[in-house]
Amino acid sequence: MTDSTKTAEIIGSVGKVIEEQKEYLTELDRPIGDSDHGINMARGFAAVEKKLPTVAGKDIGTILKTVGMTIVSTVGGASGPLYGTAYMKAGAAAAGKTEIGMEDFLKMLGDAIDGVKMRGHSDVEEATMLDAMVPSLNAMKEAFAAGKTTKEILDAGVKAAWAGAEHTKGLVATKGRASYVGERGLGHQDPGATSYAYTLQAIASNYC
Ligand code: ADP
Ligand code: MG
Repeated sequence: MTDSTKTAEIIGSVGKVIEEQKEYLTELDRPIGDSDHGINMARGFAAVEKKLPTVAGKDIGTILKTVGMTIVSTVGGASGPLYGTAYMKAGAAAAGKTEIGMEDFLKMLGDAIDGVKMRGHSDVEEATMLDAMVPSLNAMKEAFAAGKTTKEILDAGVKAAWAGAEHTKGLVATKGRASYVGERGLGHQDPGATSYAYTLQAIASNYC
């Protein structure tokens, strides 16, 4: 069970890991993109950190919608509107809630994924963030249905997110800037899938 205060803390921890991994994420974007993914995301989360106190104590939906809007307005590139949409959709699924359980969390992630797919006109196997998002949610849903504990469910999700990020090395990108390099992108891990794996890892380590 997670409440509003915990949600704000979790978002803070996501921002921290993005900042810590800024250079690595940017480095991953060098061979297949324009070397800015980490810089873009860190800029967004620096703005989020400033904005969070203004929604302290509000419901989880309001907090996440604010995170999404802040990301959209501060992050350039493809990842801004896509991650922004993901947080806004997760927020819409938690509208008015001051506490959420695992079932809510999984619904929020599902809506976030649908938002990314719609906004990005994309799906799995195109070497994007979706290749980490979708398999990790599937793994969590499976663990949830099997009656696993919260920790086991989250661990399964994080493991699948990293496997998904790794899997992008073998995919030829068909969306975003990476699609411009075509087969030359083979062997390179997608930066957005990687930032998502870090995001879910931060959520999982702080979720309770
Ligand atoms: P840009 O590509 O505009 O420089 P970033 O470097 O910040 O933006 O983000 C790139 C990441 O965005 C990619 O690694 C990929 O995961 C994700 N991405 C790009 N286009 C799409 C899309 N259409 N659908 C889903 N994810 C996408
Ligand atoms: Mg880029």
